[in-house]
Amino acid sequence: MPNGSDENSVVPIIAAIEAPYLSDLSERDKPWDKHRKNTDQVSTHYRGSEFNVLADRTSFCSEFLDFRLTPRDEGELRLKLSTARFCRVRHCPVCQWRRSLMWKAKAYKVLPQIVEKYPKHRWLFVTLTVKNCPIVELRATLTWMNESFKRLTKLKDWPAQGWLKSVEVTRGKDGSAHPHFHCLLLVPPSYFSHGYLSQAKWVELWQRCLRIDYQPVMDVQAVKKGAQPMSLIPELLKYCVKESDLVADREWFLELTRQLHKTRAIATGGVLKQYLKELEEEPEDLIGQEETGEVDEGHLYFGWRKNVKKYKLLP
Ligand SMILES: [Zn+2]
Repeated sequence: MPNGSDENSVVPIIAAIEAPYLSDLSERDKPWDKHRKNTDQVSTHYRGSEFNVLADRTSFCSEFLDFRLTPRDEGELRLKLSTARFCRVRHCPVCQWRRSLMWKAKAYKVLPQIVEKYPKHRWLFVTLTVKNCPIVELRATLTWMNESFKRLTKLKDWPAQGWLKSVEVTRGKDGSAHPHFHCLLLVPPSYFSHGYLSQAKWVELWQRCLRIDYQPVMDVQAVKKGAQPMSLIPELLKYCVKESDLVADREWFLELTRQLHKTRAIATGGVLKQYLKELEEEPEDLIGQEETGEVDEGHLYFGWRKNVKKYKLLP
């Protein structure tokens, strides 16, 4: 399509739709409504607590979305987020979703470089857990788990040359917390013939590092030979706490906020650090500005409508 020739072509389409909402206009932007609805819920949880300031910040998060229209094949137009103001509150459902998208995009870009540098190496996906703890002990439990993980990486038997670790906390039915680590390990090609660790051996090592008298639950999976670990990225770089757990119980959520304050969600080590270190920090860009030089066919603006729980097209 020649540059700018069809600038107004979407307007009649939009005019034809009764009450045009973002979710009607763009299939791939449907998740916005769900996340933003949960942000309202989180804001309500914060209201009246010592985190009142977070109630305000989250309630104003991504109230307005400015999408650029970019041409696709066959004259079809696609919405591409251009401007939005995010609250950047740690447990804001919208912001943690955006953060995860940015981290994943980064990882998808960098992993092929690592594979190119270590073509014969193998990847393991390891989940390390401990017994559930009371939510008020979450912080202390994570400190202990982190120290134990550090001990694990210093063992003679530790097979990985590089690792990425992300923290996930789920809510137990009884209101307890279940913290666990998801880890991506890069092991040398010789691992499966020399120094291989069975599932039982892994449990033994993790138990020893935790210095506990029970066998902790853990899971180890090897990525197939010659395969890239791309399929593991969504699991590794998702939220720290899933949205349904964030909104389920106000007291649990407020305590979670206290307990996780200034704790780290993602850590990297060994040879993976130089590639993935960026993931340890909050991404500066939550919009996704990677594609430049696209033809701009105009803009559409949407505002969050609390009552209908949808983003509505603004005139
Ligand atoms: Zn936010």
